[in-house]
Amino acid sequence: MPSIFTRIIRGEIPSHRVYEDEHTCAFLDINPARPGHTLVVPRQEAPGIFDLDPGAYAALWRAVRRVADRLERATGCERVVVIVYGADVPHAHVHLIPLEAGGHLPFPQPRPTPPEDLAAMVDRIRAATRPAYDTRTALVVVDVQQDFADPAGSLYVKGAEEIIVPVNAEIARAREAGATVVYTQDWHPATTPHFARDGGTWPVHCVGGAPGAEFHPALHVADGGLFIRKGTGGEDGYSAFSVRHPEDGEVSSTGLDDALLERDIDRVVLAGLATDYCVKETGLDAVRLGYEAAVVTAAVRAVDLQPGDGERALHTLAEHGVEMR
Ligand code: 5GP
Repeated sequence: MPSIFTRIIRGEIPSHRVYEDEHTCAFLDINPARPGHTLVVPRQEAPGIFDLDPGAYAALWRAVRRVADRLERATGCERVVVIVYGADVPHAHVHLIPLEAGGHLPFPQPRPTPPEDLAAMVDRIRAATRPAYDTRTALVVVDVQQDFADPAGSLYVKGAEEIIVPVNAEIARAREAGATVVYTQDWHPATTPHFARDGGTWPVHCVGGAPGAEFHPALHVADGGLFIRKGTGGEDGYSAFSVRHPEDGEVSSTGLDDALLERDIDRVVLAGLATDYCVKETGLDAVRLGYEAAVVTAAVRAVDLQPGDGERALHTLAEHGVEMR
């Protein structure tokens, strides 16, 4: 049975709608605590906000800021109070309540607490942090191949050989925790519009079966890993999840998403090459597909066609909710 908020979003129940986008909808609360009291509601039905996919969660908070900004200007209030409560309607939502100057809302009664009780609570919360790897996490080792990682490779990424030790350390940690290890490879045909000589951008690299497409010899290729080859049909293969046809732009899946879903994996950790292309696109796709994502910053290196590309890529990933480790 759809929730009352889903029925409002679908227009089956009337509401005073103030905002909507692809993921989110906002309408006035039927019993406002203050004039302008608005509910910001994800289209995705989930009991609470922390049950949302990471993509829907991030979109909700983007919408919250947009709506709060409008409420502030529309009502001339001093500030907009944000409340997530959920006592009545089990469909994730955020209350935005404009408060006039000097205005207050009831707040749970504070209780003086001895420092040792606070310290004990800190220990409990820290102990409850999700470990770096677990069985629902996949380490994605992106394109640690000879053409990128060997100084003699055709598209050598400066400093790439320095990441082999930290990447191997991540692989060992992941395996110890029972996490899945995914290895991706650029795997191009000899002729593809991806290559500069055929009208594309890049020098010939990672041609399937050629030595340059092999993994770096020092990379620990673990048994039981998942192997993903990108660009095999001549596509641009930046993301480990999807490839794009260089001419008509059509996007197709590499199969990684299905393979991770099959294993009930909900988080990916990224390492490898290169920060500003394949790592970046894999991270953005991961978030778009609803995964939690993290990058091991000591285990990536950038092409830096323009100085600072790598740093900008990490910044973009962080803005999209990717954790920097
Ligand atoms: P909560 O679940 O966070 O405790 O509160 C749910 C909020 O939804 C309440 O403030 C309530 O007034 C509001 N609400 C419940 N039913 C409707 C409805 O049909 N339309 C609108 N606009 N708001 C509703």
